[in-house]
Amino acid sequence: MNATSQSDADTETDPSQEIAIENTSDVVAWLRDRDASCPICMYNLRDAPTAFCPECGAALTLSITSPNLQHGAWTLATSSFAMALGFDFVTLTLMVGIAILDGGGVPPQIITVMITLAFLAILSGAGLLSLIKDRRVFQRRPQRSQMHLAIGVFLGVFLLHAFGGFVIFVLLAGL
Ligand SMILES: [Zn+2]
Repeated sequence: MNATSQSDADTETDPSQEIAIENTSDVVAWLRDRDASCPICMYNLRDAPTAFCPECGAALTLSITSPNLQHGAWTLATSSFAMALGFDFVTLTLMVGIAILDGGGVPPQIITVMITLAFLAILSGAGLLSLIKDRRVFQRRPQRSQMHLAIGVFLGVFLLHAFGGFVIFVLLAGL
């Protein structure tokens, strides 16, 4: 069947993609004698005459999705790296800015703190990039495995920064 081979082709090119069926008549046919809530306003779309919500006007499509596309695990994993990267980068930029404005010689301990921050920023950035690059690999994992990985990323980033913070604290205490 043509529809089957089409969805097989879509699955091969992007298995994580939601396959939207944008055909108006398919939407109307599916809603005939069937209760379904509008995803935007929760209005019951039963017997809707067009592929638009009669209540809020939102466009409607049919789609095939997967529980593997849970957003919680993905958001936790990527935001762990992204927040760490943001923190490291902003702190490093501030330190470099202050050092430049100061104009004087920067103590070697401060240089080491900057290198530590740069190292943490590079690790966080590399983690974020590899996660985004391998998003499909991440989403192919079962839901529980995705959440375990995401919690592992969160704890790993936290522990790495706790260790980095400890190193920085020791260096600054020595000033
Ligand atoms: Zn609606």
